[in-house]
Amino acid sequence: MFASLSTRIAVISLIVVLALASLAGLLADASNQTSRSFGLVTHSAEIIETAEEALGDLRDAESGQRGFVLTRNPAYARSFAERIASSTRQIERVVALTIDNPLQHRRAREISKLIADRGVSLRQPLDLGRGGNFAAATAVIASGRGRELTDAITVRAQAFLEEERVLQTTRAEAANTRLAKGKWLALIGASVVAMLVAISFALLVRGIRRPLGTIMQAMTELGQGEKARIDTAMGSTEFAQLAQGYNVMAEQLEQALAEQASSERHLQIANAELHTNSRILQERSEVIELLGGMAHRMQAARTDDELAQIIRVFVPRVLPRLPGALYAHNNSRNLLVSVADWGGLEVSTDGFAPDQCWALRRGQSHCVTAPGGDIVCGHAGAQEIYHCEPLLAGGEVIGVLYLQGRIDAESRFPLTVLAENISSALVNHRLQRSLREQTIRDPLTGLFNRRYMEEALTLEIARASRSGIPLSLVMCDIDHFKRFNDEFGHDAGDVVLQAVSAEMRSRFRDGDVVCRYGGEEFTIIAPGTTAEALMNRVETVRQAISELNVHRNGATLGSTSMSFGIATWTNDMARDGSTLMKAADSALYQAKRDGRNRALISRLAA
Ligand code: GH3
Ligand code: MG
Ligand code: MG
Repeated sequence: MFASLSTRIAVISLIVVLALASLAGLLADASNQTSRSFGLVTHSAEIIETAEEALGDLRDAESGQRGFVLTRNPAYARSFAERIASSTRQIERVVALTIDNPLQHRRAREISKLIADRGVSLRQPLDLGRGGNFAAATAVIASGRGRELTDAITVRAQAFLEEERVLQTTRAEAANTRLAKGKWLALIGASVVAMLVAISFALLVRGIRRPLGTIMQAMTELGQGEKARIDTAMGSTEFAQLAQGYNVMAEQLEQALAEQASSERHLQIANAELHTNSRILQERSEVIELLGGMAHRMQAARTDDELAQIIRVFVPRVLPRLPGALYAHNNSRNLLVSVADWGGLEVSTDGFAPDQCWALRRGQSHCVTAPGGDIVCGHAGAQEIYHCEPLLAGGEVIGVLYLQGRIDAESRFPLTVLAENISSALVNHRLQRSLREQTIRDPLTGLFNRRYMEEALTLEIARASRSGIPLSLVMCDIDHFKRFNDEFGHDAGDVVLQAVSAEMRSRFRDGDVVCRYGGEEFTIIAPGTTAEALMNRVETVRQAISELNVHRNGATLGSTSMSFGIATWTNDMARDGSTLMKAADSALYQAKRDGRNRALISRLAA
């Protein structure tokens, strides 16, 4: 009925107050009426008592008068006047008291008049007696007139008293009824008010407890992370506002929690990204450090073998689980030859033509990530998933890095850096090798030069003296070489020098160091052999050279021959090789003197 809880409380309080006030009013009224009723009972009792006193006084006056007349004893009549006065006074009071009851008032007045008359009729014999005329007094009494008055008074008094007693009884009953009614009223009223209060409070408590329970349950559920909302129809505006406020608060709380969760998620993602980036950076830094180490070693590599070893060690560390091979252009740039392979891959030493590789053709990475996904390079054979990375230096393709398997995103960076490092290392290595070749090789014949020979000889002597393994040296000189120059010109002489050099290089063992000592003189360092053992090979070489028929521009330059001096190193010789060379040279000198085109073993060595 009332939407507001406070209005409801105010109305209930008002009803309770009104009920209490009504009850109090009713009780006060009932009490008043009861009190009035009891007042009327007391009033009747007073009337009865006063009337009986008046009648009693009259009777006392009567009996005093009779006693005096009969006994003539004045003592009997002594209080007569007082009694008559008292009786008159009392009956007058009764007349006054019955003013509210016309019937009784009239009766009281009649009685009063009769009592006055009776007083006068009693006084006559008394006065006669006092005057000594007792006979007249007795006659008056005997006349019975006084008796009639007394009877009249008695009859009226009886009627009056009866009526008054009936009235008293009626009034007493009415008073008692009122008292009982008052009690009931108090009892029922108090019960009704108590019930009203109880019902009001029960309703009030119900109106508070139910919505309060709903709110508390919603709050508990919210606390447990559930999406709890309250229906705003709570039965009162206060609780409706509270529910609305709670809903707004829950909404904002959930939103705040969602935002917090979202920012935590973002933070986690950012953290994960940071972590990933940091890991990538660390991995890249490790790769760069590793490649730095590789580049450093490659710079120091002297030979292709050393270079291959370095690649075999480092590339699988940079790109694990990816077998592969490094190919580089040969000198004539018509073939890609294997420099190194790793990860269990074995490639043909034959190499392949540049146009067999799509990476080399296009000058960019060629990647086949799925069988049939792209055109397969000729050199890749049956391999269907692989990667070819061209190696570029100064805008020129110098080779290709071949990797078997799939290159994932994480391997891209190491692959790029690796390719760049290998490219520059390869270029650098080739440059160094070419510079080195230039310093140790004789440009005309391609044989080692004298400087290299002297270094190599010192080295071999040291080794031979340590190990005891024999070491021999050949000194040789083209016979009558001057003639070629004189007859066919200097260039023809050069051609003969080249032909002889090629013959010697092909006929001496791989471990022998064939050098051009100067002019048309040559030196061969032959480790691990004695002069005698070497003699056979020298003889073969001599034979081959003597059978050489060098041609130039289609014309033959004639035959040539060579003289050889052989010596074997002994411990008493100088460590710098001068004694050994001198010994071989002496043998050569002897061979020349003995008629040329022959080989002699140094007598020192023998
Ligand atoms: P022998 O049998 O006594 O050794 O006679 P030979 O003519 O070979 O000896 P000689 O020392 O008289 O002549 C060597 C010549 O070789 C002299 C020089 O002009 C020539 N010569 C030296 N170096 C070169 C070269 O690089 N090219 C050419 N074409 N000739 C050279
Ligand atoms: Mg010479
Ligand atoms: Mg010569």
